[in-house]
Amino acid sequence: MEDNETFRDKPNNLDETGKSRKIIAKQPKGKWYLRRTYFAWFCILFLIIAPLIHINGNPFMLFDVVNRKFSLFGNLFFAQDTFILALIMLVIVVFIVLFTVIYGRLFCGWACPQTLFLEMIYRRIEYLFDGNGRNNSKKNQEKKYKALRLIGKHASFILVSFLITNVFIMWFTGADKLIKIMTSPISENQLGFMFMAGISLFYYFVYAFLREQICTFFCPYGRLQGVLLDSKSISVIYDYKRGEPRGGRNEGDCIDCGQCIAVCPTGIDIKNGSQFECINCTACIDECNIVMQKIKKPGNLIRFDSYHGIETGNHSIANARTYAYSAVLLILVFILGFTVSKRSSIDVSINRMPGTMCQEVDSVTVSNIYIVKIINKTNKQKHIAIKLMDLQQGKLEFTSDISTLDAEVSTQSVLMIKLPKQILKGHTTDLKIGVFEENELITVNTINFIGAQN
Ligand code: SF4
Ligand code: SF4
Repeated sequence: MEDNETFRDKPNNLDETGKSRKIIAKQPKGKWYLRRTYFAWFCILFLIIAPLIHINGNPFMLFDVVNRKFSLFGNLFFAQDTFILALIMLVIVVFIVLFTVIYGRLFCGWACPQTLFLEMIYRRIEYLFDGNGRNNSKKNQEKKYKALRLIGKHASFILVSFLITNVFIMWFTGADKLIKIMTSPISENQLGFMFMAGISLFYYFVYAFLREQICTFFCPYGRLQGVLLDSKSISVIYDYKRGEPRGGRNEGDCIDCGQCIAVCPTGIDIKNGSQFECINCTACIDECNIVMQKIKKPGNLIRFDSYHGIETGNHSIANARTYAYSAVLLILVFILGFTVSKRSSIDVSINRMPGTMCQEVDSVTVSNIYIVKIINKTNKQKHIAIKLMDLQQGKLEFTSDISTLDAEVSTQSVLMIKLPKQILKGHTTDLKIGVFEENELITVNTINFIGAQN
């Protein structure tokens, strides 16, 4: 590695004056690029299809933040499912930490939507209009076509940005709402169309101009690498033991040809060691392997490995931290699975009406007033009955009919419970209220009933 560490003074995509420097990377070529292409298209198709397909009548994926309704793998969740949603967030965070500790920034190069769309769509459009850096065919074209190529490229960028915006909106509104917006006249949905145009322009700006700056300057996950990675984390790494001293056929295997830099989408030199700009895209692995093949040296001078692996030759990814994170993740996934499986399809909360205590109805009866809130978390109409589980002598009176619940709606009613004084068990009595659907008990709520002892 270089003794001169000036490359750490500033990000590679800034010049000496602090202005951004455009990085024009050569198109990668090789087995890792092919694998990445297949995986990327699988991810892109998932992003497009997930909100479109339905399971049990629910979208496979939906994050309807406005209506506080979420669908994960066809299971509907509402704002009231805060515990489950918080648990899901916790599992995701632990998974990201665990995954990063073991595999470094692999997610960035292989599954992050920023990289997927940039590398697989926008850059390929650019290769089409400007050439891919592997041949000079486009550069040799007549100058008069330059303007046309520029217009064609940016028009394609804008069109793709608009399509990506539609996919993005679909994840938050659902496909049906998006189709409704798209098929209605603009005058009926001016705000929606303005929002759509704003997001499309934002994506165009990001993918046409900002590009790798999102990964190096804006992305918080990239910044986390410094604290999450250790010497045993797997990442794209240059085998300095084999490569150095570089520069000639009789020294180390690296001939300092610079091809690994030419192909890097963030423009860094991986030979300088681990850098926060590296998104683990593997382009430099492929490119160096082409060079190694040409000079008849073994491949994988740059490869997936760890510093520990290069130093000791031990390539195992197992260590105490990996085991600890895996155990925590397994426990969380188990709790999550258990909680989801026990989750009721109807959510009922019964709370005392604020400011009320008990009322004497007559000389032998006491009443308490409650607010009942019920949410039907399914996409089917439900018919329910609410009954006292014990103290059968009591009476429940609702101010509105809540026995029929439409799909995915919440409703509420005022509930008055009347109990004979002689059955009360002191100042407060615990009451169990059962919610039945077609005579099947689906949930039980325990509430306090306040009343004077007989
Ligand atoms: S491509 Fe390989 S040989 Fe060429 S500079 Fe990079 S590491 Fe060295
Ligand atoms: S250093 Fe290699 S793996 Fe890292 S971003 Fe550049 S080309 Fe991709």
